Amino acid sequence: MNPIELSFEFFPPKTAEGVDKLRATRAQLAPLKPKFVSVTFGAGGSTQQGTLDTVVDIAKEGIEAAPHVSCIGSSKDSLRAILNEYRAHGIRHIVALRGDLPSGMGEVGELRYASELVSFIRAEFGDWFWIEVAGYPEYHPQSRSPRHDMDNFVRKVKAGANSVITQYFFNADAYFRFVDDAQKLGVDVPIVPGIMPITNYSQLMRFSEMCGAEVPRWVARRLESFGDDRESIRAFGLDVVTDLCERLLGAKVPGLHFYTLNGAAATKAICERLNA
Ligand code: FAD
Repeated sequence: MNPIELSFEFFPPKTAEGVDKLRATRAQLAPLKPKFVSVTFGAGGSTQQGTLDTVVDIAKEGIEAAPHVSCIGSSKDSLRAILNEYRAHGIRHIVALRGDLPSGMGEVGELRYASELVSFIRAEFGDWFWIEVAGYPEYHPQSRSPRHDMDNFVRKVKAGANSVITQYFFNADAYFRFVDDAQKLGVDVPIVPGIMPITNYSQLMRFSEMCGAEVPRWVARRLESFGDDRESIRAFGLDVVTDLCERLLGAKVPGLHFYTLNGAAATKAICERLNA
């Protein structure tokens, strides 16, 4: 029996080779028996077709697959059409997000925030979908203040979310505080920590800068000092992220959601060390 509830996140491949690579990644991760896997979309919902194709491909393997659905830049009609399509394919699990518009492009759309998307889905589709929403233990990068962000988060959950996946973080205390604060404000759904394996220093710093996740100085400096020595980066990253997961599991988190970036090795190595 697997005592840790695992889920894995993938992005929709753009090429036939990418599709094959993702299938191989799934095959390597399958023995870990994820509860579900999720599939992202590109900025402004640009790869919604890729998301659908990938989710359908995964569902055929008997794995529960949850598409990410964003509302920014979309009309209610187009969202209804996408959600109907997922329902027609028997998909019952989604990750509902506001998303981001590509910089300087496009209209906001009819639904401005993820909370409005959750309300829309509940109003139109009742309880058909299990809805995940995003949480930000280090706060959303555009938020006006921590308190404002938390109030918006609570509103989003209360609009009808079943569960939360967090942005990745390396400061466990930020997550614990976030969960405490949310629970004090009446959030009683599971808040599953998002885990980013470390395999590449410059990519990690770029992603973290964009999404507002802090890479602790000691971690960044050590990673930087390895230069092109990818083996040392991987080995150190494995230690850091496994320690983080152990601390989280010690506090009885409801699961771990891995941002796999469509690769199996790093996620598998962490889970094996955790005995998952
Ligand atoms: P929201 O919850 O709507 O919040 C966005 C901002 O608006 C916050 O600052 C919030 O405080 C503020 N806000 C909310 N409600 C109000 C209100 N009523 N009034 C004023 N301000 C308000 N991006 C992708 O491009 N593709 C993906 O597949 C993807 N998947 C993700 C999965 C997870 C688990 C996470 C954590 C993030 C993901 N993202 C993805 C990134 C996400 O799209 C961005 O972080 C986006 O900027 C916010 O989406 P949200 O659903 O969290 O927005």
